Amino acid sequence: MSDDTTHCRSCGMTSESGPYCRHCIDESGDLQTFDERLTRMTQFMRRRDPSLTSAAAEQEARAYMATMPAWRDDTGDDTGLRRPVRLHPVVIRAPDPCAGA
Ligand SMILES: [Zn+2]
Repeated sequence: MSDDTTHCRSCGMTSESGPYCRHCIDESGDLQTFDERLTRMTQFMRRRDPSLTSAAAEQEARAYMATMPAWRDDTGDDTGLRRPVRLHPVVIRAPDPCAGA
């Protein structure tokens, strides 16, 4: 099978518009930010499986994005990642005791 179909490097869906599909770019045609994509992917994961907590959905989204060429470096390594969040096996944490109160 010849591969003349492009898959979005951000979400893996088929894309007719180039390296990124129209869901993953903003109005000016630039790839959305990692945070924007993570938010949307998390929402998608929850629609697909409503039993997921938002934290679990975000972990799934992050794990999925880690397989995508556009985000592999962002999710797989701290360098270049704006938020120092990694793929933790346990996602439910107590609130940060330093956060106030
Ligand atoms: Zn996409």
